[in-house]
Amino acid sequence: MLMVNGERDDSIDVHDSSNDALNICKSCGSHCCKFGGAVATRSEVSAIIEMGYPNHFTAVSEDVFITDWGDDMTCPYLSDGKCEIYEVRPLRCRAFPIFQTGSGQVFLSQCPIASLLSEEEIHNMVEKLAECPSEILEGAASYMGPYAKKLERKISRFDRTRIEGK
Ligand code: SF4
Ligand code: SF4
Repeated sequence: MLMVNGERDDSIDVHDSSNDALNICKSCGSHCCKFGGAVATRSEVSAIIEMGYPNHFTAVSEDVFITDWGDDMTCPYLSDGKCEIYEVRPLRCRAFPIFQTGSGQVFLSQCPIASLLSEEEIHNMVEKLAECPSEILEGAASYMGPYAKKLERKISRFDRTRIEGK
C-alpha cells in the first residue's frame, strides 16, 4: 500500500519485490538508502505509523518530513540491508533510481537496477513525481543543504541522465 497525497495507490513501484530486484539492491549494498534516508509527506508518514512502525521522521515543514540522519547518513529504516517499511515506503523511495532535485529537474541514476526499468515505467514514475507538492522539494532541499557535498559524492557513484527539466 502506498499513500500519495492522502490517497491509496497500489500501482506505482519502479522496482518491485521480485527476487531480481531485491538481489540487485542487496548486491548494491542498499546504496540509495545511505544518502540521507527518506523524504515523505504527512500522509505517507501517517501510513507508516498506522502500520505500527516507529516514527523516525522529523518535520521540516507542514507537509514535509525527513528521516533523522545519522553521521553516516544511513536511513534509520534500513536494517540488515533491508527496508523495514518496504510495503509503505514513501514515493521518493519507490521512485529511485528516478529522482528530483530541489530545482525540479528529474534524473535517472544509472544504478544497477536502472537497466530493468522499461520506458513506460520511467514515464509513469516521472508523471507521479510531478504530482508531488513543490513544498516537498523545497523543504528537502533546504534540509539537505548543509550536506550537499557529501550527498553529491554519494550520489555520483553512478552516472545520471537528465530526463525532465532544464
Ligand atoms: S542504488 Fe539502485 S540498485 Fe542500489 S539499492 Fe538503490 S535502487 Fe537498488
Ligand atoms: S525508507 Fe526504506 S527505501 Fe526509503 S531510504 Fe529508508 S530504508 Fe531506504
